Amino acid sequence: MLTTHPYDDDHLREECGIFGVVGSEGAAALAALGLHALQHRGQEAAGITSFDGRQFHTHRAMGHVAGNFDRDDVIRALPGTIATGHVRYSTTGETALRNVQPLYAELQSGGFAVAHNGNISNAMKLRRDLVRRGSIFQSTSDTETIIHLVATSSYRTLLDRFIDALKQIEGAYSLIVMTPEGVIACRDPLGIRPLVMGRLDDAIIFASETVALDVVGATFERQVEPGELVIVQEGSDGHEVRSIRPFAPVAPRPCIFEWVYFSRPDSISDDRSVYDVRKGIGAQLAIESPVDADLVIPVPDSGVPAAIGYAQQSGIPFELGIIRSHYVGRTFISPGDKVRHLGVKLKHNANRALIKGKRVILIDDSIVRGTTSLKIVQMMHDAGAAEVHMRIASPPTRHSCFYGVDTPERAKLLAHKLDIEGMTDFIHADSLAFVSIDGLYKALGEAQRADIRPSYCDACFTGDYPTTLTDQDDSATVDQFAMLAERVM
Ligand code: SF4
Repeated sequence: MLTTHPYDDDHLREECGIFGVVGSEGAAALAALGLHALQHRGQEAAGITSFDGRQFHTHRAMGHVAGNFDRDDVIRALPGTIATGHVRYSTTGETALRNVQPLYAELQSGGFAVAHNGNISNAMKLRRDLVRRGSIFQSTSDTETIIHLVATSSYRTLLDRFIDALKQIEGAYSLIVMTPEGVIACRDPLGIRPLVMGRLDDAIIFASETVALDVVGATFERQVEPGELVIVQEGSDGHEVRSIRPFAPVAPRPCIFEWVYFSRPDSISDDRSVYDVRKGIGAQLAIESPVDADLVIPVPDSGVPAAIGYAQQSGIPFELGIIRSHYVGRTFISPGDKVRHLGVKLKHNANRALIKGKRVILIDDSIVRGTTSLKIVQMMHDAGAAEVHMRIASPPTRHSCFYGVDTPERAKLLAHKLDIEGMTDFIHADSLAFVSIDGLYKALGEAQRADIRPSYCDACFTGDYPTTLTDQDDSATVDQFAMLAERVM
């Protein structure tokens, strides 16, 4: 049986990363580099579509960017100065090549390729209506709904058709759309999933995170604002860049989990370093939940910045008590539980000489099912730790995400099933504490969470799901979530 690594399985997983280039020779090669920097956002499949001025070219494959896009013949088969790319886990739609993005269709107006990060929460209803009206779907991906809405819109221009489609969809979307005229990059009105814009010489670049701009040598220009469409058209004397905001304004609610885990620590968001914010969460955790101990130890790699912050705030030494092997792949052959457990030890091992006889504080970014925490705490006990205290740099994850993040069904979330005492017993720790929701907002520069109008989506912690629907439409939202909840059960 092939299985992904058990350590990776106990995180919420960001579903997708997207990247777009307008106006650079070898655009596909740049897209491959950009996607490589976004690989942490999706490791199941990757795809790039380019446009050479006459026709579109696409290569989509299961697996990592390296291995699929490091071959000259693949990149040569993607000519043109415009390209868009996508890395994915599956959110909706089974894992199959036909669901790998960018999705492409020949519309009345010409070619239309779309790369989507997020999840369309009313996709099933829209799909049923479209199929009833004669649309024939090629994939099971929610993203294809956008293509059919554009194709069947009664508006005349492609831009109007696209806006008409966006106004019908609910949920989270950062999109890069490629047409023969150029590229449209946009974010949903709540700005749940990220998207930034940069420049490389004369070329315009779009990416899920700034780290992808860094990797291709582009300079960060700005984020694509929630509810904004940035339209870039290639002309004979450069590009025309336009911005339009076709939606009624709503208060943005970007995903707070980007700060906790999804984004790479070397990315910058809202003028703040993700690394610094994570250190701040760790410091806040030390203020809220101090414990007398000898060592602060991160669960590698995602717990490292918060552990540094905890150590600096508490004055307790930061040490690498768990050593991670960088030579174990994400996927390995696991015929049974015994070998799977061996796989765990292959990837992480206790630094026994350091741990023996010490009271240790383990820092991790989150607890999802609790399976990772249980194994890591046991690893510390086996290495002779005198006490093992667990501190988590996010509040308890009690609710599923419907905005493009792979969450186990609610019944499998440890914090949904157990209170703090129950969770402490489950992972066999001497103590367990999570940063408070207000503490998380403090690390992001706010005095506390504004309960009436919070600045972020934090629904997986609070159950407060943001929506662009008005109060009168709340029942519709509840129905959609109930429908989705049924589907993930
Ligand atoms: Fe992010 Fe909201 Fe999903 Fe949690 S529920 S992962 S905060 S989008």
